[in-house]
Amino acid sequence: MSGLHLKDLSKRFGNFTAVDDVDLTVPHGTFVCMLGPSGCGKTTLLRMIAGLEEPLAGAILLDDEDMTPVPTHKRNLGMVFQSLALFPHLTVGENIAYPLRIRGVDKNGQRKRVEELLALVHLPGYAARPVSKLSGGQRQRVAIARALALSPRLFLLDEPLSALDAKLREAMQVELRQLQQKLGITTIVVTHDQREAMTMADLVVVMGEGRIRQAASPIEIYRKPADAFVADFIGSTNLLEVKADRAGRAITLGQPIAGLSLPEGMARGLVSIRPEDVHLAGSANGAFRGKVTFVRDLGGTIETFVEVGGTTIVAVTTPRERGDIEAGTEVGVTLPAESCVVLKQ
Ligand code: ATP
Repeated sequence: MSGLHLKDLSKRFGNFTAVDDVDLTVPHGTFVCMLGPSGCGKTTLLRMIAGLEEPLAGAILLDDEDMTPVPTHKRNLGMVFQSLALFPHLTVGENIAYPLRIRGVDKNGQRKRVEELLALVHLPGYAARPVSKLSGGQRQRVAIARALALSPRLFLLDEPLSALDAKLREAMQVELRQLQQKLGITTIVVTHDQREAMTMADLVVVMGEGRIRQAASPIEIYRKPADAFVADFIGSTNLLEVKADRAGRAITLGQPIAGLSLPEGMARGLVSIRPEDVHLAGSANGAFRGKVTFVRDLGGTIETFVEVGGTTIVAVTTPRERGDIEAGTEVGVTLPAESCVVLKQ
């Protein structure tokens, strides 16, 4: 198969299992974002792919070739880490040319490739500038250009954008995705920012405690989370305890959710419903009656916190959709069955 295959990879530090039997297939040209809470094993997995950490068990196959015993410098990888590790005393051009020089590319070849790469990362004409005089976003681009200098087979990035401020970071996410699409290079990015993953990835891999909890497209992860951990980690959601009545109907907060049944054999579970799928009616029409406890008006969207039977349900609406709902108002809350995802508890 053309692409990357992680085959039953595990890694332990002492008797702590950091990566636990990870199996993942990444078709050639895919942009992967590995996502998960701090300490879930993302970086360790990336370091194994890079050859910087030796697996306890399993294999790393690239285009069917076993890379596991191959040392890092022979894997033909491009890597960018949070620290960027640019040489501060060198110019932009010298930084980018560094891997080319090590590889024995002549001066003319180096100059041409540097120009090509600078155009690619939107920094044409920057070759002679000292790295120390660049902004955070420009340094980021230089690190990316250097990592791509030798046209690697795999592009690995560990929290590459986390040092940037929010606005620049969002712009760089789009830029990085567009660059990857242009080059068609298989790319793996470690991040703990779910928005970043949703922006860039073809394939989002959600990890928890060293294991893959779900690997799917961003929208599938969002719409059909595999479990409560994933539902809660990706975006915000309302997680409600449900139980089946005799007819199998899903009961929550003392009432059935209209049109929703639990799968046969499931007595209890959780329902995940995204805030934008919760419907509110100011006249208290709706299946559940609640009282608004807080309204967060963010301009473009409005988050409304409603207490229903001791549980807070969050609804997100746009200003246009919403009537006059203020803290203290009695409202009706509808949970449309088609937007409810039933999960095991
Ligand atoms: P973060 O988002 O905080 O970077 P992560 O998901 O990348 O977290 P890892 O860095 O892969 O997590 O670490 C996974 C676990 O393995 C952590 O509990 C960490 O303390 C442990 N660990 C990582 N490297 C080592 C090491 N060299 N020796 C001992 N334990 C380690």
